[in-house]
Amino acid sequence: MKVTTLDALRSWLDTVVGEYDVVAPRDVDGHVLYRPVATSGEIVFSYERPELSVKDYLLPATEVLLRVEKRGGEVTVEENLADRGQVIFGVRPCDAHGPATIDALFLEQEPPDTYYSHHRARTVLIGMACPQLWEGCFCTSVGGAPDDATHLDVLLRRVDGGFAVDTVTEKGAKLIAGLCVEERDGAPDAPTTEGEAVPVMPPDAWRPLFGDNIWMRHGERCLSCRICTYVCPTCRCFDVADRVVEQGAGITRIERIRVWDACTSTNYRRAAGGHNSRPTKPVRLRNRSFCKFRYYPEDYGPLGCVGCGRCIVSCPVDIDITEVLQDVAERSGR
Ligand code: SF4
Ligand code: SF4
Repeated sequence: MKVTTLDALRSWLDTVVGEYDVVAPRDVDGHVLYRPVATSGEIVFSYERPELSVKDYLLPATEVLLRVEKRGGEVTVEENLADRGQVIFGVRPCDAHGPATIDALFLEQEPPDTYYSHHRARTVLIGMACPQLWEGCFCTSVGGAPDDATHLDVLLRRVDGGFAVDTVTEKGAKLIAGLCVEERDGAPDAPTTEGEAVPVMPPDAWRPLFGDNIWMRHGERCLSCRICTYVCPTCRCFDVADRVVEQGAGITRIERIRVWDACTSTNYRRAAGGHNSRPTKPVRLRNRSFCKFRYYPEDYGPLGCVGCGRCIVSCPVDIDITEVLQDVAERSGR
């Protein structure tokens, strides 16, 4: 195996920040979050699961798409596309499965989403394997693993005295060409994956459960706070709005922005005239669950859940998607 030391990794990262926008796990007031960094000294190398996924750097929570200027009768429109490459360092394997899930809709359907495609093309994902499953994690039940290199460009795994380096893609190989590594005998320890597997029923098993009381049982206490959707690496619903940023002296400047939306919110499904086709919390929770395990895989291929467990640990009223999955398995009788 190829191994690098922490010092070598830090020096290499300090060269990368000169050339790329670098995002990495950082301690922000006691919360480990993927955040932009200017030096390797800001990066946390020992951490569990960052509290938010990397989604914000590929499908930002708020993104300016266009800048429009109206000066008298003249209108100019400027597209807002970042011009630097981006490196996301320390990506947990489930967080690399997240964008791969979104790709099925945003890249692989016609036409591909311009802004998401741009972020995907400019981004290199340097992964950091988890040594174990963290609280709430069930990646192994949905096709992942704590040391899964799929969908990463490079995977690092902790070993004595440093990190084993697995190069996965050409993009990754090009990026880490300057990283100092040495050949060593042996292999990294396998991660601990103890715990009961969560049963995940195939999409057709969900169909008869649309009218089941599972949804009332779990959804009745939902607060419609949307946290589960925002922390999720695969939830990708958005809204688009125009905001006036400057107006006066014959000039109007407008930004067209895209913002995350959430099917768990009260207004998500409200149409003109006020009708809401998902007016209750259980119905909205049912939709979120069906979307992840029936609609999305049926329509686009991948499951809409990578088992990161974030929605479980973040929900203020302890709604647990693995309990929903258990109920679905029991009720479906398979
Ligand atoms: S985090 Fe919990 S309470 Fe908030 S919308 Fe999601 S399921 Fe409902
Ligand atoms: S549904 Fe929950 S466990 Fe699954 S990927 Fe989203 S946040 Fe993670």
